[in-house]
Amino acid sequence: MGNASNILFKDSGFNGVIISLKGLNKVKIKKNLVYAYAGALLPNVLNIVKNKGLSGLEWSVGIPASVGGAVALNAGAYNGDINQILKYVYALDVKTNKVIKFTNLEYLGKYHQSVFTKNYKYVILYAVFNLTKCDVKLIQQKITQVLSMRMQNQKVGYPSLGCVFSRLNSGQSPAYLIEKSGLKGKECGGAQVSLVHSGYIVNKNNATSLDVLNLIDIIKQKIKKDWHVLLTTEIIVIGD
Ligand SMILES: Cc1cc2nc3c(=O)[nH]c(=O)nc-3n(C[C@H](O)[C@H](O)[C@H](O)COP(=O)(O)OP(=O)(O)OC[C@H]3O[C@@H](n4cnc5c(N)ncnc54)[C@H](O)[C@@H]3O)c2cc1C
Repeated sequence: MGNASNILFKDSGFNGVIISLKGLNKVKIKKNLVYAYAGALLPNVLNIVKNKGLSGLEWSVGIPASVGGAVALNAGAYNGDINQILKYVYALDVKTNKVIKFTNLEYLGKYHQSVFTKNYKYVILYAVFNLTKCDVKLIQQKITQVLSMRMQNQKVGYPSLGCVFSRLNSGQSPAYLIEKSGLKGKECGGAQVSLVHSGYIVNKNNATSLDVLNLIDIIKQKIKKDWHVLLTTEIIVIGD
């Protein structure tokens, strides 16, 4: 587990062990290379590299990820993603207890996919990002731009897991279909389809994970009926 920003934990709990890597959070910089450990929070890494005049991570402002979670899922936004800046990843193979170095080519980063979503035997330890020297003011300008775009359509006002459904191959946005099907604002217990961004489900009032899962089901069924499209979730559900 990284920052758990993409994980819905079931109310029933989980009969197993979950390892948080939050303590593994060092960030070191050598010239334009950034060595960021898995538990470091991406917003903190962004702040550090900005102050060092290193550009390439501005797109990530507003994503509440850890480095490990962002690398595992190849997080991305506004035409940027981890794949574009990743030089190497070092990961522990839990089957052999060996640390393996992955190059960018071996990483296979696509939207919310990588070698680590295809193979759960690896725990990412740290990543090496290759950034570009740039004027701090220009970096700040870019960050401000991205943040204002985010604020326009993603300032949902309640806790959420970000976008619940994966992008469709057709290019259609799940949020668009959800809105067109009249589900904006739809509630189930304490969970609600956000009134600001229909791709988000927010915890409006002490929602249980069952409220969220029931709302996801309602959305899937309605979208299938109205648009003959099967939505898939991109959030990760953990529990028994
Ligand atoms: C408000 C909000 C906005 C968001 N905006 C975006 C966005 O613009 N773009 C985007 O891509 N995502 C976005 N997300 C989703 C989420 O933040 C990202 O997917 C992020 O990459 C998840 O990182 P995390 O550290 O929270 O991972 P977690 O939720 O903790 O874990 C996600 C997955 O990664 C695995 N993982 C975590 N750490 C490691 C590790 N060290 N080694 C191996 N596997 C690991 C976990 O096992 C799990 O399967 C948003 C979420 C929220 C709540």
